[in-house]
Amino acid sequence: MFVLGIESTAHTFGIGIVDTEGKVLADVKSVYSPDEGGIHPREAAEHHQEACLLILKKAINQAGISLRQLCAVAFSQGPGLPPALRIGAIMARGLAYSLEIPLLGVNHCVAHVEQARYFSKAEHPLVVYLSGGNTQLTTLEGKRYRIFGETLDIALGNMLDMFGRAAKLAHPGGPKIEKLARQADGTYLPLPYTVKGMDLSFSGLLTASKRLLKEGAALSTVCYSLQETAFAMVTEVVERALAHTQRAEILLTGGVAANKRLREMLRIVAKGQSARFASVPPKFAGDNGAMIAYTGLLLYRDKIETPIPASKVLPKWRLDQVDIPWQ
Ligand code: AMP
Ligand code: MG
Repeated sequence: MFVLGIESTAHTFGIGIVDTEGKVLADVKSVYSPDEGGIHPREAAEHHQEACLLILKKAINQAGISLRQLCAVAFSQGPGLPPALRIGAIMARGLAYSLEIPLLGVNHCVAHVEQARYFSKAEHPLVVYLSGGNTQLTTLEGKRYRIFGETLDIALGNMLDMFGRAAKLAHPGGPKIEKLARQADGTYLPLPYTVKGMDLSFSGLLTASKRLLKEGAALSTVCYSLQETAFAMVTEVVERALAHTQRAEILLTGGVAANKRLREMLRIVAKGQSARFASVPPKFAGDNGAMIAYTGLLLYRDKIETPIPASKVLPKWRLDQVDIPWQ
């Protein structure tokens, strides 16, 4: 018996398959990358529509199973871009209906967290979730994730991608900025550092970094200064949240978790507070179908199904609105 999961919230159309222990048997994806500008929701949906059948075929082949062996189909029900979400939802409904198996609506943010917990074996961590669309510090309190701090404007990954575009780096900017920052000579140019209580704001930092570029500063120096400033902001709130919650583990997840400098900084904070630093494996840091399949398995075990009439996509579905009965 296997659970298939479909991810289609934004740029990635992915399908993952897990067995009933949670082991990943397949993880296949196709990523939409805009020629210029940010993600266009309709173009992302068109990409997903074109990619979906081939990705399904590849995932089934990679797992070496047949569709008839599936016991449930999970899909990212939200949050995300409505046209993109709908492609995954339509495919999931079609599979669940025709195979006569349960449909499971998964919250994308919960999936990033649960997959990171699965791989890191973190029990009750302070979760640091940094991606293209989300910047959140959260811990499970009772049956729900409680958000301690988040961005007041744009997500950290989105900020990096927007700066990347201004610097004419190909999308996504995050990995390219990391590489350029590593090549920099260590000159730090002061930039706006905006922490408000436990919340963060990145738009001033983005504007000032773009201005530095326009004024002729070396790209690698700006990348370095940008990264150091943004990650120091994250590190400050993580340190405070850790001291406040007394959690013994930091768990980093989301696309930005692939960044080595960020991991290094959070590892230092963890050490200072005698906590363990854990992170999602870089391979699974970005959006992927396997995280939806795994979280689908958790829902399936608890018999939390999503009947087709209740399977409308939820573009604004927040992490802290989801009941978590399995922890
Ligand atoms: P997600 O939305 O979870 O798929 O994450 C995508 C985001 O992660 C994008 O904003 C990327 O720029 C960002 N990202 C991916 N790799 C890195 C990296 N090495 N350093 C910083 N950001 C990254
Ligand atoms: Mg994501």
